[in-house]
Amino acid sequence: MKTSAVRIFALLIFTLALATANIFAQPGAKPTATPAKPAVKHPLDKGDFKVGFSPVTKARTPKKAMPKDERDTLEGIAVALNGMVALPRDVYLNLDTCGEPNAFYNPETSEITMCYEYIAYFEEAFKTIEKKPAVVDDMVSDAFVQIFFHELGHCLIDVWELPATGREEDAVDQLAMILMLDGSPEGQKSAINASLLWDISSRSEDKADMLFWDEHSFSKTRFYDMICLVYGSNPEKNSFMVGPSRLPAQRAERCSEEYKRAERSWMKLLMPYILD
Ligand SMILES: [Zn+2]
Repeated sequence: MKTSAVRIFALLIFTLALATANIFAQPGAKPTATPAKPAVKHPLDKGDFKVGFSPVTKARTPKKAMPKDERDTLEGIAVALNGMVALPRDVYLNLDTCGEPNAFYNPETSEITMCYEYIAYFEEAFKTIEKKPAVVDDMVSDAFVQIFFHELGHCLIDVWELPATGREEDAVDQLAMILMLDGSPEGQKSAINASLLWDISSRSEDKADMLFWDEHSFSKTRFYDMICLVYGSNPEKNSFMVGPSRLPAQRAERCSEEYKRAERSWMKLLMPYILD
């Protein structure tokens, strides 16, 4: 688990750097994969991404601690994020045993928590569609990156009080996809892999027991929303994604506009907080 977590974080840092550099680059500017803290402090930047449990959590559970190798790798993510986005207060990144396969942003403690159980679930899920262990590992990494960006979206909406009408869960899924779809073939492949998790998850959902009151869209809907954004990011290149048992043509015709609007909306919302 730990070795795989280290690999995931290395990929996450790289994806974060490229994706964020790409989406917020000025026209003509060269994206950089090694963002550094800017020399001039952003006037709104009063906090940092920090590694470990928040002071609130540590006060409640003094024994909570993270293994050093995980701390070190999360440190890389924190440094990358601190060079990219301003925060009004500190936000804590951690891995934890949660008792369920999940990930959270907790506004009370300002923590983004990725659960070990969730990473184990990704592996179990992807093994149902892929036999090669190396490919499964890549898919697990892709799902981790997507879920981390999703939780980062919840965090940014909370700390900057960003407007989000409609379901916040859908809005942050869009952010995750936009960040992953950095224009590279690798980014697109990762985005498709991560989307497949929701298709796989939908197979075990009992239709008689679906929670219509839940804040999340149904897994299958999330899957189609995600692949619509992938297709819409480059409809000409992605025509292979449309068809029977793929993205229905009726939905596909709107996806280019859906992608453009989602990207434009998130760029507008985040632009005041992006460090240059
Ligand atoms: Zn969420």
